Amino acid sequence: MSYSSPTEPFTIHTSLLFSPHLKTFLPNVSLLISPTTGLVLRTHTRSTSSIPSPLPPSDIDLTHLVVLPGFVDAHTHIFLHPYAETPALHQILHESLVERTLRAANHARAALAAGYTTYRDLGTEGLGAADVGLRDAINRSIVVGPRLFVATDPLASSGGYVLRVENENARVPRLADEADGVDGVRAAVRRRLAAGADVVKFYADQEKRNARYPETETWPGALGVRFKPEWGDKPKHYLLFSASEMRAIVDEAHEAECPVAAHASSPAAVIRAARAGVDSVEHGQEPSAEALEVMKEMGTIFVPTLTVMEEEVPEEVVGSMYQHTYNAWKAGVKLACGGDIGPVAHGENVRELELMIAAGVPVEEVLASATLHGWEACGGAWCGRKFGWLDEGCAADIVGLMGDPREDVKNLRRVEFVMKDGRACKMDNRMIV
Ligand SMILES: [Zn+2]
Repeated sequence: MSYSSPTEPFTIHTSLLFSPHLKTFLPNVSLLISPTTGLVLRTHTRSTSSIPSPLPPSDIDLTHLVVLPGFVDAHTHIFLHPYAETPALHQILHESLVERTLRAANHARAALAAGYTTYRDLGTEGLGAADVGLRDAINRSIVVGPRLFVATDPLASSGGYVLRVENENARVPRLADEADGVDGVRAAVRRRLAAGADVVKFYADQEKRNARYPETETWPGALGVRFKPEWGDKPKHYLLFSASEMRAIVDEAHEAECPVAAHASSPAAVIRAARAGVDSVEHGQEPSAEALEVMKEMGTIFVPTLTVMEEEVPEEVVGSMYQHTYNAWKAGVKLACGGDIGPVAHGENVRELELMIAAGVPVEEVLASATLHGWEACGGAWCGRKFGWLDEGCAADIVGLMGDPREDVKNLRRVEFVMKDGRACKMDNRMIV
């Protein structure tokens, strides 16, 4: 089927459309879309399942599909590819800016083909603010991909998030904008905002003191050390910022209408970050009823990143994380789907939905977490554009699935149709951009 982009408003007809606000599917909705603004101009519910015949040439019939708002991945790294292919250290140290950028363009295309029209991209991992340039290249239609909300460099306290090489004379890319003290972290937030960040990310905790113990045999021929410390062969996590530093980060970012995401592994880090008023907690993988209570109380969005955990954490720990995620939903904590994609392949984003569903969270709740809650994690009204649901004034980001995910979760991968900002990108299971 050939398709040329319409220049006048056109209609998309659906028979089953997901509403993340109502957490249900609505029958027989038609959407009038402006190709100029990329927004939904009007929605209306038809009295019957039938649609006009013959259909005006620019109208699109999606009545054979299950239609949803475009997916939002709330935790990605567009410049990373799977660590199983190339470990993080080598990607950051050895791959050129050109290679990483070209890979990122491929990743963006793969994400769009999988139905992802928005990425909250939480750090370039060694490329500074290159994500700002990629975001703008997508917005200028130079390359295709999800709309990016970027973090540039994350914030960490001195030495808190560094690429460790044993040769201290080696020049290594920085991984974080390092800052200490209330004034110092405020200045760092100001630097991120000036660099073009849409979201500020900071490390609430991180492995620390790794230099005491070489964790892996990093280079060919590197010798392992013979005796492991009593805590095992993984460095321990420690808090990176005081409570007052975290509050200053949040205050400074919020004053400029910018959301804040906190990387936090331990319950202590989750609790301190949530109490400081961060918009989202990333990972939070160590089960803790108290951490859930505080996130619920503070209205913090929880992004459990089950996809990357499945790859990186031992199997027995993963089970407790599923339980923790289910408990979070049960306790009324708002979830957003973010797979920490990059370390896991771009295009595999929907794995996060599959794992949340496997953890016991109802399908409709998971779909809301992958759409509307993603928009909220990006800053909600601060985004300057509504996406993640389909109503008058929202971006026309639309996904059509060949089959109902309530009947079979595998249908989440059967993405037949994708539209972003009113422009069809994939039709009949083929990319057309
Ligand atoms: Zn991440």
